[in-house]
Amino acid sequence: MARVYNFSAGPATLPEAVLRQAQDEMLDWRGVGASIVELSHRGAEFMEVAAQAEADLRALMAVPDDYAVLFLGGGATTQQALLALNFAAPGQVADYVVSGHWGKTAIRQARHYVDVHVAADGEPGGFRDIPARDAWVLSEDAAYVHITANETIHGLEYRDTPDVGDVPLFADFSSSIASEPVDVSRYGLIYAGAQKNLGPVGISVVIVRRDLLERAGQPRADIFTYASHAARDSMLNTPPTWNWYLLGLNVKWMLEQGGVEEFARRNAAKSALMYTAIDGSGGFYRNEVAPAVRSRMNIPFFVPDETLTARFVAESRAAGMLALKGHKSVGGLRASLYNAMPLEGVQALVDFMRDFQQRNG
Ligand SMILES: *Cc1c(COP(=O)(O)O)cnc(C)c1O
Repeated sequence: MARVYNFSAGPATLPEAVLRQAQDEMLDWRGVGASIVELSHRGAEFMEVAAQAEADLRALMAVPDDYAVLFLGGGATTQQALLALNFAAPGQVADYVVSGHWGKTAIRQARHYVDVHVAADGEPGGFRDIPARDAWVLSEDAAYVHITANETIHGLEYRDTPDVGDVPLFADFSSSIASEPVDVSRYGLIYAGAQKNLGPVGISVVIVRRDLLERAGQPRADIFTYASHAARDSMLNTPPTWNWYLLGLNVKWMLEQGGVEEFARRNAAKSALMYTAIDGSGGFYRNEVAPAVRSRMNIPFFVPDETLTARFVAESRAAGMLALKGHKSVGGLRASLYNAMPLEGVQALVDFMRDFQQRNG
């Protein structure tokens, strides 16, 4: 059976080389005679896998030494609640900039534990632009400022790291982590569910400045405490070993491909191909996001009506392109172009779009 081009927003496509290596090692991990998922997380074999994945991720993202890198069960949504519990004192205010669906989710998870202040909200403008930095209303004593680096559903991303002064900047990078070079030192905390651009679902990465781990936060169990996870190398309890292993293979692949500089180049080329096709279609295809903040990872687009939307999804599927249906909250179509999506896949989609328009325009 041939593999298709998979444009899923998440869980998302993984490199074939990574899947093949996992397949090769499934029954017998490097001569041990057992699968890596059958071994103790405290044994030498898995400890090596875990340490290598962390070292590779640190190298890939140039993570400074004064940052801890955590590998945790629970998705990005879990982190959205935990960061409030860990870093805000009871009743303390935290600033949130809302640029789409996931910014709203972050507030929904945090508001049980912090006094959420919306510093800026793109919803009145239909989430077509990121609120300009000089229009943000930041609080005096905020525990942190939270942003969503890339909005997976609405298709917009920060092109620059916003300056928020001395208050730590916390960012949800679930759908754009390792897609380009990022100066980690500008952030207090970066978190991401792995299933978009980093690996399989079931594991999240949290990159946090170590001094922040000293904050008291709020009463909570050890298992909800980042400092405890950091002190035990993310092995406070049994970590998701299979997911960690697969993430490690994927990060290694990204390094071998040339690292984040190379992926920034590829992702710019892939997204430019898509946006040029959309903008050059005479209005048959539409993307409504302000050009300066259009996402390189997730591209929502629309055809003139719902009949054509359904036809596009069905015919593209038959032509070997998977999961182009838009998120139900915005409708239309969406192409996700994560690191593992090759340029050829985007070229095939753009060719299909041109052909589809000729037949239906
Ligand atoms: C997918 C996604 C989430 C939610 O991730 P889960 O792992 O399902 O909790 C949060 N934020 C962003 C930006 C996402 O793309």
